[in-house]
Amino acid sequence: MKSKKVVVIGGGLGGLAVALRLAHKGCEVTVCEQGPAFGGKMNRWVSNGFSFDTGPSLITMPWIFSELFEVAGASMAEHIEITQLDPMSEYVYPDGTKFNYSSSIPDWLGTVRNLDSRDVDGFLRFMKLGAQLYEVSKDTFLRRRPLDWPKITDSGVMRHLPWRYGWGNYDRTVRAHFKSPQLRQLYNRYPTYVGSSPYQSPATLAVIPYIEYTFGGWYIKGGLYRIVESLVQLAGKAGIRLLLNSRVDEIEHAGSRVKGVRLADETRLDADLVVMNGDASYVKGMLRENGNGAIRDTGLIQKDRSMSGLVMLLGIRRTMPELHHHTIYFSSDYRREFSELFDERKFPADPTIYINAPSRSDRSIVPGDGETLFIMANAPANDSDAWDESQIAEARRAVFARLRAGGFPDIESDIVVSDVWTPKKIAGRYLMPGGAIYGTHSHGWKKAFLRPGNKDSRIGGLYYVGGSTHPGGGTPTVLLSAQITSELIERYEIQ
Ligand SMILES: Cc1cc2nc3c(=O)[nH]c(=O)nc-3n(C[C@H](O)[C@H](O)[C@H](O)COP(=O)(O)OP(=O)(O)OC[C@H]3O[C@@H](n4cnc5c(N)ncnc54)[C@H](O)[C@@H]3O)c2cc1C
Repeated sequence: MKSKKVVVIGGGLGGLAVALRLAHKGCEVTVCEQGPAFGGKMNRWVSNGFSFDTGPSLITMPWIFSELFEVAGASMAEHIEITQLDPMSEYVYPDGTKFNYSSSIPDWLGTVRNLDSRDVDGFLRFMKLGAQLYEVSKDTFLRRRPLDWPKITDSGVMRHLPWRYGWGNYDRTVRAHFKSPQLRQLYNRYPTYVGSSPYQSPATLAVIPYIEYTFGGWYIKGGLYRIVESLVQLAGKAGIRLLLNSRVDEIEHAGSRVKGVRLADETRLDADLVVMNGDASYVKGMLRENGNGAIRDTGLIQKDRSMSGLVMLLGIRRTMPELHHHTIYFSSDYRREFSELFDERKFPADPTIYINAPSRSDRSIVPGDGETLFIMANAPANDSDAWDESQIAEARRAVFARLRAGGFPDIESDIVVSDVWTPKKIAGRYLMPGGAIYGTHSHGWKKAFLRPGNKDSRIGGLYYVGGSTHPGGGTPTVLLSAQITSELIERYEIQ
């Protein structure tokens, strides 16, 4: 049988993963990445010997990464060194409360008891709810496209259905399980892992803290970008054609079947199959169905977008032993913060700050005594927001005010290298509407569970992979989307 010619639009994690899976099914694969490096949002910035991950800083469900290496005929252990973090993070609150989120159950239950003894039972019930949601979703939502889910009554998942709390609002469910304001804020943070507000998301997202607590938070020595480097190496070995600085402007189709792509420099590539790894909302424009041909005109509309972020990468000349690998400095009014992000669509006056200091666990990424700091605050994904110098300076003041209030040391005179990623820069670098990191937000059932499918319903041979499509954003789910998409291609196109 003649091998299928596949063009993957985008060399992000999803694009590389689907390319590897399809190459190992005998397809002739070309990956076109518009940027200067592979990896998409999972990327790296190196300056003066400081090495920073610019995107993901924590992975969960490591076996999903391992599965991909196996599909590519390799072993993850031979390519990357992965370690589980304990404590997973330190939490710092405006009232001066501070504690570690330990993955040791006895340690963590001790901390919970000190905060409010009634919450020990609440924590165990909350984890049970997460476990039920995980049992329901692990072989359905996470592994198959929505149309292929087994009938709930057939699959034995019925007994896991969390009838009481699984269907309501996320924040209400957190409040029903925890009395301590600190634990409420801690568990309300999890919907931000998919760029969403706890006050507008469904309770089903309680599966996220369960997954993190049960399966751990993991780091990769040398930085998470080591995953991308390994995948690119495996792609080369598998004979995948890897093109950088190659933006696809048009998906060509004859009637209702794809026939190739056209790049920005007018190069044409024939294809039997096209897989979109860029934002799914751009495809309509790329098919020239809106008549104007401009790919940027059809992007995800503002009100549907997940959050973006303001990220500061700072190389510090001295060691900071007081810092943990992950620290969260919470804002004083979480509800207000999300209202500013989603209703007013502005950078919060008092933002919650996440600091990732991987050099605390890995000295290979810093020169000498230094530290690498990745400092992130949530920001709205807006088109209109210019993020000029004065706006950046104002946001930076808000970030450092929160950090100072939480007792973070003065680092101003110790900064050796720095780079700032605004939503505007994120949007431009990865061609993402408004810099929305996770495609659409997960507010409400439909948005959380019915994301764009992995197979186009009208154009034959057109498929989707990555965070803007089913099952959603975040590195493990993006890898699962690559598995789902390659299985659909095998079912509909190869056999
Ligand atoms: C600051 C930040 C922090 C994050 N933290 C975490 C974390 O801790 N844990 C976690 O699991 N996830 C995290 N994520 C999310 C995670 O990075 C993403 O969900 C995942 O990497 C997305 O992969 P993807 O393949 O779907 O998309 P992308 O990485 O966006 O890749 C898509 C690629 O397609 C390219 N492209 C787009 N359009 C075209 C075109 N027309 N032609 C050619 N190429 C095109 C883009 O340049 C891009 O390289 C974070 C993301 C960011 C930005």
